[in-house]
Amino acid sequence: MKIAIIGVGSVGSAVATAVKNTGFVHEIVLFDRDGVRARAAAEDLGHAASFTFDVKITAVSNYRGIRGSDIVIISAGANQKIGETRTDLLNKNTEVIKDIIPKVMANVDAKNVKIIVVTNPLDVMVMLTQKLSKLPAGRVIGTGTMLDSARLRTILSRQLDVASQSINAYVLGEHGDSSVINWQSISIGAISLDDYCKQTKISLPKTTRATIEHRTRNAAYEIIKGRGATWDGIGAAVAELLRSLINDSHKILTVSSVNRFYNMMIAMSMPCIVGKSGVIQCLKPNMSAGENALLRKSAKIIYKNYQQIAK
Ligand code: NAD
Repeated sequence: MKIAIIGVGSVGSAVATAVKNTGFVHEIVLFDRDGVRARAAAEDLGHAASFTFDVKITAVSNYRGIRGSDIVIISAGANQKIGETRTDLLNKNTEVIKDIIPKVMANVDAKNVKIIVVTNPLDVMVMLTQKLSKLPAGRVIGTGTMLDSARLRTILSRQLDVASQSINAYVLGEHGDSSVINWQSISIGAISLDDYCKQTKISLPKTTRATIEHRTRNAAYEIIKGRGATWDGIGAAVAELLRSLINDSHKILTVSSVNRFYNMMIAMSMPCIVGKSGVIQCLKPNMSAGENALLRKSAKIIYKNYQQIAK
């Protein structure tokens, strides 16, 4: 299994580390328009690999080096600075994706390759990548709200004093400020959230739920304030997605892929079955009327943002 990573900044390096540590790949190639940075990352990661798995990690100086890749991960582009939203990156990163995707497609096997998109604003970048690559929608997969869902589970885990792995909780819609917390479908082990709260005598009033929503949506802003960028969480999310693709696991992940939502062809996150062929099916979870209205609004925001760059 050969993986190419395009863009080897904070995120690309963390993705490479997490991908290497899955033990599922034999070769990782790194490309960045800053060749010095890519070569340095390949050196450092190669040293780390000598303590774990036998993975060949090299920096390539042009796109011919990605030939033979089974999966290409796009983590290039501008990141949010303090005070910036993901949507503020729209114009800059549109140019980045327009630069990268034709060069990727000229060097991969279009019949088999899958592209994982990480660059923000995520959902619009997935739509643009799918359009430029002409790949089937299921093979252009954005990490979507995988990270947001992990953040929600982590916060709930502390609040409910239960392992985050025992919580089924999903964030839907845009990977951005309009994301929707799907309270209606949350379950802890085999029981509903409300039942769990009753049995454990933990109260989760409206105000606490509002705080949990705020902290989930604003987690990236807080991390950026303290660390300048976010990378470890997204690295682990990409590795989880990769495991499901390579192992044909059929995991349910909130990835973003192009589909018809509310009569619009857009990319946004829903719980999807992910396997060897990519996104196999998007599922519709139980939603309250309020959640459904918020999700429709989120879909419209993605649609509107895409219209800005589709001209
Ligand atoms: P960074 O500035 O550290 O690295 C970006 C890298 O992209 C740089 O090394 C740069 O040289 C390279 N690059 C830029 N344009 C390029 C091009 N045309 N061709 C090749 N390489 C190019 O940024 P980062 O913190 O690594 O973030 C990268 C992207 O990931 C951002 O858009 C950020 O918002 C996004 N991100 C997404 C998630 C998510 O959940 N999807 C999480 C964190 C960050």
